[in-house]
Amino acid sequence: MSLSTHSIYFMRSIRSMQKLIILPLVSLFCLLQWAKIFNPSFSQNNDLLFPAISQNTSYALPAALTFDCSWNDACTSSILDTLDLYSAKATFFISAYWARRYPERVKEILERGHEIGSHSDLHRPFPSFDLDQKAQQLLSAKKSIRDTTGQEVLWFRPPYGIIDQETLRLCRAAGMYCVLWDIDSQDWKNVPPKKIAENIIGSIHPYSILLFQNGALNTVSALEELLPLLSQKGYQFCTISQLMQIH
Ligand SMILES: [Zn+2]
Repeated sequence: MSLSTHSIYFMRSIRSMQKLIILPLVSLFCLLQWAKIFNPSFSQNNDLLFPAISQNTSYALPAALTFDCSWNDACTSSILDTLDLYSAKATFFISAYWARRYPERVKEILERGHEIGSHSDLHRPFPSFDLDQKAQQLLSAKKSIRDTTGQEVLWFRPPYGIIDQETLRLCRAAGMYCVLWDIDSQDWKNVPPKKIAENIIGSIHPYSILLFQNGALNTVSALEELLPLLSQKGYQFCTISQLMQIH
C-alpha cells in the first residue's frame, strides 16, 4: 500500500438533495478546506479520510471506471467484453443482494481483472437508517462479498452517494473507505449513448472517478464511443485501488 501525507475525501453531486460537485483527486487541498469550512469536525477526524495520493502512478492519464450494480445483470457481460477490448479495468460496486443473486458474475468480474467494492446490502439511503441498521447494512454487505469472493472489501460507495459522518465512522470501523465520484455519466437516465459520452468527455481530467451503472440501457454503446477516443488522448482506465496505488 502506497500512502502519502495528504488526505482525501470524495464528494459527489447528490442527485436528489444537492448539486455540489467537488473534483476529488486533483484538488485535495481545496477539498480539505471545504471540509473544514462546512464541517469543522472534519479537521479533527482525519482518520475518516483516505490518506492518499502521490502523482507517481504508472498510468499516463489515470481515471477510474466505476459501475454500480444493484438491479439486473443484463448488460454486465457486454460491459466486461467492452472493457477487455480497450484493456480497461474498473471497480464494480455491488449491492449484497445483487451478489447473492449473481455470485458467478461477481467471480467473473474478479477473474477478468476488475475489482469489487461494496454498495451496501439493500441499496437504501443510509440516512433513513438508525445507527444499528447502518452498521448492519455495512457489515452484512461486507460478509456477503467475503462469502462470495473470499476477499475483504476495502471500498464502500453509499447508495445514491448520500453519506453522513456516522456512516463514515462506521465505514472506517468496518475497515472500509467511502468512495464517491466526480463525474456522473448519467447513464441511469437512459439518455442516448452520445449524450453519456459527452458527459464524460467534456468533464474528464486525470484522476477522475467516473460513475456508471451496470443496468442502464445505453452504457455499453457509450463506452464503445468514449473508451477509444479517451484512450487516444492518453487516458488509462483503472480500478480505485490502482488509482490509489494500492497493490
Ligand atoms: Zn446505486
